[in-house]
Amino acid sequence: MHYVQCDNCSVVYQHPLPPPIAIESIYNQNNSDYFISEVKNSNFLEGENWLRGSAQFFIFRLQKYYRKPLQDASVLDFGCGTGIVLDELQKLGAQCTGVEMSPWACRYGRERFGLTMLNEDIMTVNLVPESFDIIVMSHVIEHLPNPSLIVSRLTTLLKRGGILMICTPYSESIGARLFGKKWLYYLPNEHLHLFNDRSIHHVMEHAGLSVRTVEHYLWRKRSAMGAVARLPISLARTAWQGATQFVSAKDGLIAFAAKP
Ligand SMILES: [Zn+2]
Repeated sequence: MHYVQCDNCSVVYQHPLPPPIAIESIYNQNNSDYFISEVKNSNFLEGENWLRGSAQFFIFRLQKYYRKPLQDASVLDFGCGTGIVLDELQKLGAQCTGVEMSPWACRYGRERFGLTMLNEDIMTVNLVPESFDIIVMSHVIEHLPNPSLIVSRLTTLLKRGGILMICTPYSESIGARLFGKKWLYYLPNEHLHLFNDRSIHHVMEHAGLSVRTVEHYLWRKRSAMGAVARLPISLARTAWQGATQFVSAKDGLIAFAAKP
């Protein structure tokens, strides 16, 4: 595998990119292999509480930039996987739509959580322009061969004043610096683009969005973050501020941008 950095925007990307068919075949299988893999030691179903914890953390941060009630907010999650983030938003009364490449994950989210999950291509899926208050892309942008194109497409679906939230590995985290090309988020064929503050700004601004904030957070200790997110808001804020002061190993990047 070979990663290079763009001189212009500083995004780190796999070069050459794998052919589209090789990328699609990772995600569009009609079985659970991508989501439950002994080889990769990953089990999205066993990890559900962990995922819920991080979803609650994302929603806690989102509420700082999306000031209106989540009740009746229209939300799109692109690359929603089994639908955990949407299920957490749905519990708060949001109207949720997911777009997901894996037919297996779509069935799972529909049957288990009653979610609207579309097993379609985001570029051609029939969604109404400027119809979403919030669009979420959680640990998805790094998997895309064409992040700029997709973020621009998502921006057309966002209402004016709507918020796009992107979470992704942070390419300048201490772990990334320490481990170099052995950093666990350099995943050939899966992680095609890795972002820092500058490159995430670039991709969002290129789409016409106005960046509100780019923050770093602890992605691997998501269960701890889940515990933080479940505390009452004032306590959680204190805990969060404490955590940001004492924890420097943040390996996740979270960015919020608004459509002017
Ligand atoms: Zn670039």
